[in-house]
Amino acid sequence: MMRTLATPQLMLARGEGCYVWDVDGKEYLDFLAGIAVNSLGHAHPVLVDAVSRQIATLAHVSNYFATPPQLELAERLTRLTGAGAAGRVYFCNSGAEANEAAFKLARLNRGASGRRKRILALNNAFHGRTMGSLALTGKPPMREPFEPVPSGVEHIESTIAALEAAIDDRVAALFIEPIKGEAGVIDLPEGFLRRARELTEQHGVLLIIDEIQTGIGRTGKWFAYEHAGIVPDAVTIAKGMAGGVPIGALVTFGWASELFSRGQHGSTFGGNPLATAAGNAVLGEIENAGLVENAARRGEELRAIIHGFDSPLISVVRGSGLLVGIGLTEGDAHRLSDAALHHGLIVNAPNESSIRLAPPLIVGDAELAGFRDRFGRALADVAPHR
Ligand SMILES: *Cc1c(COP(=O)(O)O)cnc(C)c1O
Repeated sequence: MMRTLATPQLMLARGEGCYVWDVDGKEYLDFLAGIAVNSLGHAHPVLVDAVSRQIATLAHVSNYFATPPQLELAERLTRLTGAGAAGRVYFCNSGAEANEAAFKLARLNRGASGRRKRILALNNAFHGRTMGSLALTGKPPMREPFEPVPSGVEHIESTIAALEAAIDDRVAALFIEPIKGEAGVIDLPEGFLRRARELTEQHGVLLIIDEIQTGIGRTGKWFAYEHAGIVPDAVTIAKGMAGGVPIGALVTFGWASELFSRGQHGSTFGGNPLATAAGNAVLGEIENAGLVENAARRGEELRAIIHGFDSPLISVVRGSGLLVGIGLTEGDAHRLSDAALHHGLIVNAPNESSIRLAPPLIVGDAELAGFRDRFGRALADVAPHR
């Protein structure tokens, strides 16, 4: 394995529901879900059945041909995002690729005289690791070793004042990560998305929301922008959309759907029948089982549990629905996630002062009780109660 990441601590062999088992047979309660990917948990029968049937029928055909699962998923996404009949969908295989497509879309919004050359994104937001998505990512230490990256991107603070100062008629697009997951589950200020929508509309700027981590029901709505009551011009989706089968999508709304023309973008695997059948199974099950509502309700219960710990380590709880950030009083996040693992619980430390939780959308009473028990023990190990 290339040394691009830290060495994994565990080797996992199988999963079922909200649990996984390592190669030695030890059980773990999975409150990360592959970083908000396993929406239905592990080995969900609806997903297993759909993928098994599709691979036995037609797995891949190239984009010279359409397939029924592909069109069905495109229709679902235009409906669920609110893009409706004027919406269009581009399929790819990952979040970074969805943002690459969105970056190219932004370049096509040149304005009449071709003067829209500026692209805005937020400091500390994460948009991916490929060169274009890295240019959008507002974390200089990630970007700098690989410069020069594509030009024209300016990073601004996540404040309404910074939006008002930056947006003008030379801006092609504004990229927003509505809750900054990789930064530790950091919320935007109240009113930020609504003001971003007003200003981008006034100035003909594409408002592109990166819902790769927050989308597909994770925050207790299908998409996080719904909490703000706004509709974007484009949205990028990936992680939770096919329950672990690699997929990504760019969905455009209204006039943004007219920007790409024939031959301007493509992907060999993008939108193949296998991946899109998995997407249909996941989205269908989320609707049938009421999992968006479950994410909202279980998210509240999870927050109540965390507030109930009364640990000197916990300073604040952030995020929405089942995307939860626990801000710590001291930089003990890695010790805490290691202690949780020891007690059979998978959580994530995106940085030294935050714990991120993103359990499967199917979590219920038993899993929340398991979390209370196991995380409580991890907290007590790292900082004994007052
Ligand atoms: C994970 C993530 C990405 C990148 O997705 P990949 O599938 O890893 O390329 C982009 N944006 C956000 C907000 C993400 O959470």
